[in-house]
Amino acid sequence: MNKFEQLGLNESLLKAILDLGFENPSEVQEKAIPLLLEKDTDMVALAQTGTGKTAAFGFPLIQKIDADNRNTQALVLSPTRELCLQITNELKNYSKYEKGINVVAVYGGASITEQAREIKRGAQIIVATPGRMQDMINRGLVNIKNIDYCVLDEADEMLNMGFYDDIVSILSDTPDEKSTWLFSATMPQEVARIAKQFMSDPLEITVGTKNSGSSTVSHEFYLVNARDRYEALKRLADANPDIFSVVFCRTKRDTQAIAEKLIEDGYSAAALHGDLSQAQRDGVMKSFRGRQIQMLVATDVAARGIDVDNVTHVVNYQLPDEIETYNHRSGRTGRAGKLGTSIVIVTKSELRKISSIERIIKQKFVEKTIPSGIEICEIQLLHLANKIKDTEVDHEIDNYLPAINNVLEDLSKEELIKKMVSVEFNRFITYYKKNRDISVSGGERRERGDSEPREFSNNGAVRYFVNIGSRDNFDWMSLKDYLKETLDLGRDDIFKVDVKEGFSFFNTDPQHTDKVMDVLNNVQLEGRRINVEISKNDGGGRRDHNNRGGRRDSGRREGNFAPRREGGFRSDRSSSRDGGSREGGSRDGGFRGDRNSSSRREGGFRSSAPRSEGGSERAPRRSENFGDSSRPRRSRRD
Ligand code: ADP
Ligand code: MG
Repeated sequence: MNKFEQLGLNESLLKAILDLGFENPSEVQEKAIPLLLEKDTDMVALAQTGTGKTAAFGFPLIQKIDADNRNTQALVLSPTRELCLQITNELKNYSKYEKGINVVAVYGGASITEQAREIKRGAQIIVATPGRMQDMINRGLVNIKNIDYCVLDEADEMLNMGFYDDIVSILSDTPDEKSTWLFSATMPQEVARIAKQFMSDPLEITVGTKNSGSSTVSHEFYLVNARDRYEALKRLADANPDIFSVVFCRTKRDTQAIAEKLIEDGYSAAALHGDLSQAQRDGVMKSFRGRQIQMLVATDVAARGIDVDNVTHVVNYQLPDEIETYNHRSGRTGRAGKLGTSIVIVTKSELRKISSIERIIKQKFVEKTIPSGIEICEIQLLHLANKIKDTEVDHEIDNYLPAINNVLEDLSKEELIKKMVSVEFNRFITYYKKNRDISVSGGERRERGDSEPREFSNNGAVRYFVNIGSRDNFDWMSLKDYLKETLDLGRDDIFKVDVKEGFSFFNTDPQHTDKVMDVLNNVQLEGRRINVEISKNDGGGRRDHNNRGGRRDSGRREGNFAPRREGGFRSDRSSSRDGGSREGGSRDGGFRGDRNSSSRREGGFRSSAPRSEGGSERAPRRSENFGDSSRPRRSRRD
């Protein structure tokens, strides 16, 4: 009995395999085929390129399809037109002795009507690229509501190319009961996320060594102009309020300089390099382990082998000279089974290095865009609100309450909240309102050719920001359902739902905006008022709904900032104007401190950054990063 027969494949397939000249199944085929034939199950299969993954899903798929039923039963998604055609061709070869099976390729750049016609004639299997498939669905040219099988082939590559939203949206159009088979060469975080969201109890098979790098680390790069390197670092820190990171520089001098700048700008940072005494280095490491330092700026030599748990990000402020060193760096995160992110801040001239590193680590990078001021403000605002909510009160404070009450007694609760939040937040607004977008288009690396992240390319749709998220037990599907029901809208009226911890984003077409704003802002969720605001809306949305102020930079996302802010956490203008005069008070006030008490953090600064102590009354606290005192310095540099 031939080996393929042993796997359970039927007569017609065995005959086709003979024609193909395959003598023995490859490892991934040997593992996947019997499992997929035996029962209807979800599966995640990881195997390197060239290991025969197409047949590993193709053979069982052909065998399981009901050739007598002409309805679409299977959808295979693949990243590119070439792969789409290749898979289609293979599936046709596999099924050539099985009468009545039709496989249709659906991909961009060819006539959509012709493809639709082919499907209409009865295609049990559609092989498609995500973009065109989404297009077909939108135009009602295809029905995948009753498919039994969905294959995500080269899933890592698809996500790498920015198809996440399309995939999510396509999958939401398929029935829950189908089997999903995910094939991928690597398992970056995004793939794991898809698997987690859309698969139930998937069987997992892995062939060969998974990756040489750690699969718990995902790799991202941010393309910037060389002069924006430091600004990018700051924004990444601001966009990740809970960042706990090692920042790598190439030289001792840069290491020292970047650490000093960060400290000056109010971050809890420290330098670690060979020019420090052993005692100094021990002190820095102690503070870092104790979490009093959020950003440890280090040289490769000094940081070699650092074993600190829960490092969330490794930041390659500059790439190392030796590519192999990258592995040592990124290995500082993603330890002990935790997920971590390795970030590279890269300029155009260094882009080639990204590809070299990809080859070495056998993992793909995801290209990301430096968050805009508006995104950072949203993240920080919610972070602040949650922090206020979670702060434990030390009753020592009771002694001071009479005096405090004396000052504040005339304020209503609402005013008080606004002002409290504004104390911290006006600085952000002021800072980021003035600042330009520093993202750079990736050129040849970026397949989609737009410099903005896809979520902002809204084609006239309006994007909203809402203060409910995964904390409230929503994922994108349940939030979509919730919004759909609450707003009495159709399932396609709400799209690009992106759920974060304390908040979420979603889109509608402009005609629904009034309804969204009116209805949602008057709804309570478990006793809490829902707050929805219009988020960044390039194109039509802004003109239609938010055209106040007529800023010069109307094309910029930041341009929408001031009008937008008038929603939800209104920071009223007058308080924003005299915010400066209260600054001294605010700095000593309560809401900073990400994890630790401020005393602990100060301890960290002292031990780690002796130089900054001379910084007079400006206690170098993280929140000061938003304070005006650090701004003039910045703007002069720019
Ligand atoms: P992957 O998707 O894992 O990158 P493919 O499915 O594209 O790999 O297969 C790579 C090549 O190996 C193809 O040319 C395919 O025809 C061939 N191949 C697949 N399975 C076998 C097999 N069992 N024996 C011989 N060649 C095979
Ligand atoms: Mg393949």
